[in-house]
Amino acid sequence: MKPDVSIVIPAFHEEKCVAELHRRLSNVLAGLNCRYEILFVDDGSRDQTFQELARIAEHDPTVRALRLSRNFGHQAALAAGLAHAAGRAVISMDADLQHPPELIPVLLDRWREGYEVVYTVRRETADAGTRKKITSSLFYRLINFVSPVRITPGAADFRLLDRKAVDALLGMRERTLFLRGLIPWIGFKQIEVPFDAPERFAGATKYGYRKMLAFAINGILSLSTMPLRMAALFGGGVVGIGLAYGVYVVWTAITNPHALPGWASIILVLLLLGGAQIFFLGVIGEYLSRVFEEVKGRPLYIVAESIPREESPDEKRELD
Ligand code: UDP
Ligand code: MG
Repeated sequence: MKPDVSIVIPAFHEEKCVAELHRRLSNVLAGLNCRYEILFVDDGSRDQTFQELARIAEHDPTVRALRLSRNFGHQAALAAGLAHAAGRAVISMDADLQHPPELIPVLLDRWREGYEVVYTVRRETADAGTRKKITSSLFYRLINFVSPVRITPGAADFRLLDRKAVDALLGMRERTLFLRGLIPWIGFKQIEVPFDAPERFAGATKYGYRKMLAFAINGILSLSTMPLRMAALFGGGVVGIGLAYGVYVVWTAITNPHALPGWASIILVLLLLGGAQIFFLGVIGEYLSRVFEEVKGRPLYIVAESIPREESPDEKRELD
């Protein structure tokens, strides 16, 4: 029988967290009087995360685990989890206990009230330094400047999605899945639930500055073509200045018989045009690379193993 609720948890190098998370989750879920499954997605960890999960699944039939064939990144791991979750509602959360399982009953209450997307928003994050806070607030300002839909600052990847919303997301054909932008984009009845994020239970954050920058760039390019428009505007400005300067040069040449057309003006024009061309090329190249990704149509992830083992079509035929 299909579960009512699936909990989807991407985990990358979380060997010290998963057992404690499973304990606290089970405590909460057992008291809820609903059928549930806990679906871990091991995002290509090289530590003991998957062995830990296998051990947990041995004693608890509600636990399933997927191991991706390498580290595909948080968003891809989430997508894998959504695709394999069977519940009528799917809750995604981090493996490091920064998303308190004790909030789950609140999310489910909102769902039963009829909300199809219940997303949580961090009020306070215990271990976030000033630098992370500044970069995060900058990111949300920038992305909301370019985005056609509003993205709530501090919206976490801790959220409940109704089956309808999950199916809508899974129907997206794009390869760079930026869930924080797609969730507001898909619409449905949405509501936010605030919470305070504690420190991570063990281990270190997997989001260094490089990954955060890549995340921000992906988000902006997946949501908006405004950078292209900005390039066009900038190019227009450059042409305008060039024209004004051209008028000045011609005027000087006519009115001042001693005026020599100087190298300076030529070099200036060359610099302006050269700069604009390079800038355009950069912007166009950035989008071209996305088009390239889309055209290639590679799978978002490759599942190497799963618990319990999924029957392959051949095995099914043998059983018939
Ligand atoms: N994660 C993942 N793949 C990655 C990086 C992170 O599946 O490549 C998982 C990680 O195990 C955790 C969640 O994504 O469950 C959020 O990562 P983390 O806690 O490191 O991010 P932070 O809370 O510091 O932003
Ligand atoms: Mg975390």
